[in-house]
Amino acid sequence: MSDCIFCKIVAGEIPSYTLYEDDNSRSFLDIFGATDGHAMVILKRHGATIHDYTPAELGQLWGSVQKVAAAIEKAYATTILSIGINHGEPQGVKHLHIHIMPRYEGDGGGIMQTLPGKKLENNDFSGVAEKIRSHIGK
Ligand SMILES: [Zn+2]
Repeated sequence: MSDCIFCKIVAGEIPSYTLYEDDNSRSFLDIFGATDGHAMVILKRHGATIHDYTPAELGQLWGSVQKVAAAIEKAYATTILSIGINHGEPQGVKHLHIHIMPRYEGDGGGIMQTLPGKKLENNDFSGVAEKIRSHIGK
């Protein structure tokens, strides 16, 4: 879809901090993220909501979420994550994406938009991406 920012990321027209990629899916950092390590996972084929994909495609998407989630848990030494979709939300990017955010015991969070989290300092997205990538598949 020509005016979709995520399709442009998939096409390489817009740079991103890639965490994981396979034939069907891609994960990258949310540069406007709620927390340090806030990642997103998408299917490469454009679709706005879960209804635009087959169950098999959604299975591929969740398989990638599982890989990235495991890497984030290791990179941030936590077993707590918030994983979620803003389904059909009129604001924001209209390409289905799953957020993965590291959480911490006692952080008081629970609702994605109000996560207190740990804000990324110094905007070191390259360092964050490398830290997470180093744990993919391990
Ligand atoms: Zn798209």
